Amino acid sequence: MSPDSDDLGLDILALGAHPDDVEVHVGGILALASDRGMKAAILDLTSGELGTRGTGETRRAEAQAAADILGVTRLVLDFPDGRFTEDEANRQCLMAEIRRLRPRVLILPAPDDRHPDHRRAHRLAREAAYYAGLRNYPCPGAPWRPEALAWVGGENPGPPDLLVDVSAVWERRMAAFDAFGSQFAQDPSQPLTRIAHPAFRRGVLGRAMHWGSLRMCDWAEGLWCEKPVPKALLDLLSRLS
Ligand SMILES: [Zn+2]
Repeated sequence: MSPDSDDLGLDILALGAHPDDVEVHVGGILALASDRGMKAAILDLTSGELGTRGTGETRRAEAQAAADILGVTRLVLDFPDGRFTEDEANRQCLMAEIRRLRPRVLILPAPDDRHPDHRRAHRLAREAAYYAGLRNYPCPGAPWRPEALAWVGGENPGPPDLLVDVSAVWERRMAAFDAFGSQFAQDPSQPLTRIAHPAFRRGVLGRAMHWGSLRMCDWAEGLWCEKPVPKALLDLLSRLS
């Protein structure tokens, strides 16, 4: 689906500041949604062109390959990596996307993540999701507010509010993660970044294994949300189980 397509009415929209943000946390949920015939998409705010490894172009190509593995649509906005702001123009850009895509559930970056872009993307998209529902807000598109917001955890989160058993799609979920070779592959010719360190990948595995142990399954992904847990999230859980 291109950003201009008319394919509307998403069950899930997962938003990230950079390509790979979504796949670090909820690739399994998206793969499961795809397998269940649900409409799911990823929206990256930037191409991640400020990354120490890879270029904006290579990262976009990797991101599309990852989305193909998961079976979901991917959209990329051209916000500047590291320098996008919470201004009115960016808010309205996101509002217009939310009104056009009409996601029932919107998954956001963690509000307290160590990366400032992730925290800013959370705030910007959370506000856009609210204001997109206001009929008289001057913005293209018909009013639409997601029924529920959820967000991913940072790197050392507390217990998730929701757990999803993603064991059935775990290999595909990690294949999508590994599609970001410029970011995560062991490559001695490239600078060793925090996310390219083997410990980062082990952290992804370890959290999913731990959360799986709480659900008595092999692998699980966690989500956090406002309380009480919105009905749309409970419905989503039941459709994914
Ligand atoms: Zn990121």
